[in-house]
Amino acid sequence: MSDQTNDGPNRRMISPTEKIRVAILGSTGSIGTQTLEIARQFPDRIDVVALTAGKNVALLEQQAAEFKPECVVIGSEEAGKGAGGRFACPVFVGEDALIRAATWDRVDVVVTALVGSIGLLSTVAAIKTGCRIALANKETMVIAGDLIGDLVDAFHAEIVPVDSEHSAIYQCLLGERTSDVSKLILTASGGPFRERPLHSFGSISLSEALSHPNWTMGPKITIDSATMMNKGLEVIEARWLFKLPVEKIEVVIHPQSIVHSMVEFVDGSSKAQMGPPDMKVPIQFALSSPARWPSSHPVVSWKDNHQLTFSTPDPMRYPGLALAFEALKVGGGMPAVLNASNEVAVDLFLKNKISYQAIPSLVKAVMNRGIESHEYSIDARMDVDKRARRLAEELAGTTSH
Ligand code: NDP
Repeated sequence: MSDQTNDGPNRRMISPTEKIRVAILGSTGSIGTQTLEIARQFPDRIDVVALTAGKNVALLEQQAAEFKPECVVIGSEEAGKGAGGRFACPVFVGEDALIRAATWDRVDVVVTALVGSIGLLSTVAAIKTGCRIALANKETMVIAGDLIGDLVDAFHAEIVPVDSEHSAIYQCLLGERTSDVSKLILTASGGPFRERPLHSFGSISLSEALSHPNWTMGPKITIDSATMMNKGLEVIEARWLFKLPVEKIEVVIHPQSIVHSMVEFVDGSSKAQMGPPDMKVPIQFALSSPARWPSSHPVVSWKDNHQLTFSTPDPMRYPGLALAFEALKVGGGMPAVLNASNEVAVDLFLKNKISYQAIPSLVKAVMNRGIESHEYSIDARMDVDKRARRLAEELAGTTSH
């Protein structure tokens, strides 16, 4: 974000020789550790000032010893017990303390790399400081995307997406007018079950669902990629990030994961952003944008004989996608219901308590119960989230196969 004029309450002019002050929420996860790899590569540009973990205090301790942040947060009360003496900086414990890291003194960029709805309140708090949000926590936009846009405007904050699809669209839209866009086309790899016979879906095991062909990610998003709920959540995220109606958003299967997404314009022209399947590229861009920092990330070798293929996703194979479109069309609190019930279902699957096929069945069952709220506030959405979770837990016994 060098050379930017920042006019929000917490934003400042940053000269090209100055470091940006970065807080990483979820530094012990997949996105968090990759963000730290970038910080390691650019010590003259990035100052890591706040780090947070959920339970992995040992890794947080190593990270703090290396990056010397000004504070750390441990989300789990249990894991945080007695941890104070292990750090040279102030240590805050508990999920509420995530907000302290998100609003730490003079932070320029908050990387929201928490998984699940736990990311919502700290992201909202960060937005209120007017800083840049490098947004990985897509659940924030799914639960409250219709509210987040207004908050970003009110507090002069900025969201630069980390998700590779949204980063691609963001880059394709640079210098363009939203009114000239006819379609956003999100690409999806198709996950591990793209070619698996449908009749064998009943026997999908946890380890099969956790083996993504192209990306190495945290467990929750890996399962969501198999059901394509992840793409569904991304459709909702795109709808609110780019302020375009759902009718202008499409998904195509692109197994090679080289085209990260595309924008089609009213004159028939399309732009695509391409690169290797490496999350460090979009994470780095969310920190450096509009500048690009030279790096040693692998590049696509275009001289090799690449085949780039595109096809329409099969709704039978990917039930999560249709459920997300449906939730978006209903609107209000329904995307929050979708997200909460999916979090419960994926967690149960990860604990081997329900089958793979029971994940979308459980989400559908909760959505059909009609937990609704058209009240326009973050608190109301958190309430929908809690109610949907409770209902999903109650129904889990009846829908598991
Ligand atoms: P991981 O599961 O790898 O990491 C999640 C992070 O959140 C960890 O640091 C974890 O801490 C922390 N955390 C979890 N629960 C709590 C809690 N209750 N309180 C405090 N901290 C908590 O997730 P990913 O990095 O894969 O994903 C993060 C977000 O980024 C998700 O929203 C995902 O959809 C999105 N995303 C991820 C991509 C990827 O490639 N991984 C790609 C695009 C988007 P700990 O481990 O210490 O318990």
